[in-house]
Amino acid sequence: MGNKLLFSDGFWLQKHVKCPFLSITYCCKLKTDSQKLCNFAAVKIVRTSFLPFHGFSAVNLLGVLFVHPGVYLSNETMNHERIHSAQQREMLFVFFYLAYVIEWIVRLPMRGNAYRNISFEREAYANQRNLDYLNSRRPYSWRRYMKRARH
Ligand SMILES: [Zn+2]
Repeated sequence: MGNKLLFSDGFWLQKHVKCPFLSITYCCKLKTDSQKLCNFAAVKIVRTSFLPFHGFSAVNLLGVLFVHPGVYLSNETMNHERIHSAQQREMLFVFFYLAYVIEWIVRLPMRGNAYRNISFEREAYANQRNLDYLNSRRPYSWRRYMKRARH
């Protein structure tokens, strides 16, 4: 994994803190013009083999990204997780997890993959390749993904 992840809205500086069970990476947003730290609470990455559970490579809990050791975090993956962070903030975190679980349960007996068809996931998967998406995203955009499910 490189030292810097480049986004259209600036650089991300990574600082590593290692202890026996966890490897924590702090990603701080840098202003491209002055190269000064402008956002300390951007994304925190915790590498541990305990989270997430089997079958997933990364999970975003309350804005902290839990990743298995050795998993490569592409700009696309980071963008996906940052979209989830935006969703969580606008839903005041607790309502995000409530809505996420309720929608997953409702979609379980339906056709297709219940997890992939959750509207939060559909918004994140549909826009993860557009690294500029969060700069133009309107609040609560996931609502537009509630109607049709295709996966
Ligand atoms: Zn996701």
